[in-house]
Amino acid sequence: MESDTKLNQQNPFLDGTHDPSLISWLDSANGHPFFSIHNLPFGVFKDSDGIRRCGVAIGDYVINLHKLWADRPFTGKAGEGLEALNDTSLNRFMSLGREVSKAFRQSLSKALTSGSKWESSIRKTLMPMSEVSLCLPCHIDDYTDFYTSIHHATSVGKLFRPDNPLLPNYQWLPIGYHGRASSIHPSGTQVYRPVGQCLNPTTQTPELTATAKLDYEVELGIFVGRPTPAFEAVAIEQAEQHFFGVCMLNDWSARDIQAWEYQPLGPFLSKNFMSSISPWVVTAEALAPFRLPPTRYANRPKVPSLESYENSVFGGFDIQMTCHLRTAQMRKNGIPAKKLSQTSFKHAFWTINQMLSHHTQTGCNLNSGDLLGSGTQSGPNAAEAGSLLEITRGGQDSIALPGNEFRGFLEDGDEIELSGFCESENGLRIGLGSVVGRIAPAFSSPHLSKQAGE
Ligand code: MN
Repeated sequence: MESDTKLNQQNPFLDGTHDPSLISWLDSANGHPFFSIHNLPFGVFKDSDGIRRCGVAIGDYVINLHKLWADRPFTGKAGEGLEALNDTSLNRFMSLGREVSKAFRQSLSKALTSGSKWESSIRKTLMPMSEVSLCLPCHIDDYTDFYTSIHHATSVGKLFRPDNPLLPNYQWLPIGYHGRASSIHPSGTQVYRPVGQCLNPTTQTPELTATAKLDYEVELGIFVGRPTPAFEAVAIEQAEQHFFGVCMLNDWSARDIQAWEYQPLGPFLSKNFMSSISPWVVTAEALAPFRLPPTRYANRPKVPSLESYENSVFGGFDIQMTCHLRTAQMRKNGIPAKKLSQTSFKHAFWTINQMLSHHTQTGCNLNSGDLLGSGTQSGPNAAEAGSLLEITRGGQDSIALPGNEFRGFLEDGDEIELSGFCESENGLRIGLGSVVGRIAPAFSSPHLSKQAGE
C-alpha cells in the first residue's frame, strides 16, 4: 500500500514547461521527434567565424545564445543564466546549479511559445541545424564509468565466471572505474581500430595486433552541474542539485585487449582510445516527466547511505536507448541500418543520484562538466543487450545482417548509431539525439613495425 501512495505523489519536478498543450510559433518544433518545445537541450557549435558558441536545439534550428544575449530578453536568474551562456562552453552555466537552469528554461519556453513578444528577437538568432557544426558541449575534466546495469553485469559475468556471474559487492555499491577524459570526442568522429597487446589463443603468448574484437557500449552520459566541495561527501538527498543533464555515450571497447589486461586493476587501454558522445545535453529539468521509481529488484540489500524517499519515488528515468548498425556494404547498396537493440535506462540497478552521491563518499570532488558513464545498459531480455559482447556471447555467435553479412564484432567501415528518446503517456516526447561513429582501419603504429622487425 505504501508504494501505491508514493506512486500517486505529485511529481515536484514538473512545471508549466512540461504542459503537453504548449505550441511554439516555430512550426518545425511542434511534433519534432527530438527537439520539441518540451526539450530545449544545450550544445556548443562553431559559428561562421569559427568561434565556439552555446546554443539550444529547437525543431530544425539552433538558437545562437550569443546573439540572444545581445538582446538581454531575460531578467533575474534566467538573465544570470544567459550571461553564463554567452561563452565558448557550457561549464559556467552548468556550475550555477538547478535554480538557474530551471529559471532559464522557464523563460526560454515562454519566449518560444505561440504569441510570445520575443518571437522576432529569437527568429534573428536561428540557424538551420543542418548547417551547424557541433562540438563537445563542455570541457570534461574527468570521466568516470559505472556499471549500473545488473543485466549487463550478469551476462558478462557469466561469460567469464559461469558459476559466479555477479560478485557480492555489486548490490551494495555502484561499481565504477576512473576513465579517460582526453579521448572523449563528439559524434561523427572517426573511430580508429586500436592496436594493443592481446593473447594469441593458439600460442598462448601475447602479441601486439590491431584488435579483432572491437565493440560498442550503449551508455547514458551524465553531466555534473554545480561542483561539489573537496573533502565533503554529498548526501543522497543533495545529489540532485549536482545533476545537470544527460547525453548518449558510446564507450568503444576492445574486448581482446581488455581480456588480457583487465586483471587485477581493471580496464585500461581497451577503453581509453576513444569514447563518443551525442552533442546535445538534455537537462534534468527536461527529463522531469519521465522520472519513475527505480526498478525494484528482489532481495536487494538495504544500503541506508544510498537511499532516500525522493530517490525511491523519482530516482529512475525511462529513457529509451537504441543501437543501429550499418556496414559499408549496406550503405553502398542503400540498405537501411539494422537495429541491434533497444532498452530503457529504467532497468538500471543504481540511479543517477546514487552514482553522484557514492562518487563523493570519500570526499572526492566533482567539477562542472565532469562526465559519468552509466555503464552498458542492457534490459532483462535478449533484444535489450547493449553490446556485441553480450549479443554474440563474446564472438561465439554472429549477427545476421541484410545482404548476407555476419558480425561477431565490428569491422572496418561499420557505423554504429546510438539514439535516445523519452515518451510519456500524455503524449510528451523529447529526444537526446544520437551519437554516430564509423570504424576506420588501425593507423600505422610505430609499435607494430618494431614488432615486425622493421
Ligand atoms: Mn563502459
